[in-house]
Amino acid sequence: MFRDETKEIRIGNKVIGGGNPIAIQSMTNTKTQDVDATVSQILLLEEAGCDIIRCAVPDIDAAKALSKIKERIHIPLVADIHFDYKLAIAAIENGADKIRINPGNIGSKEHVRDVVLKAKEYCVPIRVGVNSGSLEKHILDKYGRVTAEGIVESAIDKVQMVEEYDYDNIVVSIKSSDVLMCVKAHELLAEKMKKSGHIYPLHVGITESGTVYSGNIKSSVGLGIILNQGIGDTIRVSLSGDPVEEIRTAKLVLKTLGLRKGGITVVSCPTCGRTNIDLISLANAVEKLVQNYDNLDIKVATMGCVVNGPGEAREADLGVAGGNGEGILFKHGEIVRKMPESELLSALKEELDNWK
Ligand code: SF4
Repeated sequence: MFRDETKEIRIGNKVIGGGNPIAIQSMTNTKTQDVDATVSQILLLEEAGCDIIRCAVPDIDAAKALSKIKERIHIPLVADIHFDYKLAIAAIENGADKIRINPGNIGSKEHVRDVVLKAKEYCVPIRVGVNSGSLEKHILDKYGRVTAEGIVESAIDKVQMVEEYDYDNIVVSIKSSDVLMCVKAHELLAEKMKKSGHIYPLHVGITESGTVYSGNIKSSVGLGIILNQGIGDTIRVSLSGDPVEEIRTAKLVLKTLGLRKGGITVVSCPTCGRTNIDLISLANAVEKLVQNYDNLDIKVATMGCVVNGPGEAREADLGVAGGNGEGILFKHGEIVRKMPESELLSALKEELDNWK
């Protein structure tokens, strides 16, 4: 698999690439210089399961805030920089564990050199990020429009701008909001990297994918196809919403693909005319409840009736099947007890609390 062959890159206390577990990332949406707000959000993201966090560094105040933020968080901190090489240097000096730049928009060749040399001095990896929206004119002219080939050509060119200074502590990202173009670009990039022998870890995400609803769908489809081909060492789900939602989605994507263990899987029926309990509310409450049990790797079923209910519930480690205003609790395929509908959620919680 491609991800087993990528170079191992250390980012603070995490290592990505070389077949290491796929790290989940997110980005804060607070003002980075507002240290308290940024730290609060990062701590919530850590609790949700975020492995690596990125903060925007649009000015020098934000760059200086990084050192204060780092003192109060426990996961690697990545600085996101555009246009100004001085900010990249300041971010590294202020403790960034990785910087994300596009060497094509950071300034002159000398400026790129200064950033790379600073990164080298501090042993800080550089994520070379290229977006479909920022392709150079000559590439657009060559391909006539934005294409997967153009994105890959631009990315390889930017990677070489860093390699030129004898630095290969690199992660690469290529982004497009067009899901299928993004998939194609990743396949192409993986192929080209393999041929060249310069095999860097890939940070995978679908950019500008939209609100929680459309973003979840686009990200899941795109990431699903890419990750399932063995490509991708770290991921970010981008949503116009609470970053904690990004983590929840990323975890479920990885778990669905069998790329991450831990956490409870909830299965629930779609409900139909046979449903005689408020199954939709129960399933939503159960989904929320299980977020607190990342230490358990089990399946919990919430089923509306006894037609398919007990069967599914039996296959699951734990489950309920609704009856008429009541429900049956199953554990390891065995009926535990019958109870009123109102007690089903607390019965599940009690079982999870005492799960062996
Ligand atoms: S499990 Fe029962 S209630 Fe749920 S969809 Fe199937 S038949 Fe309908």
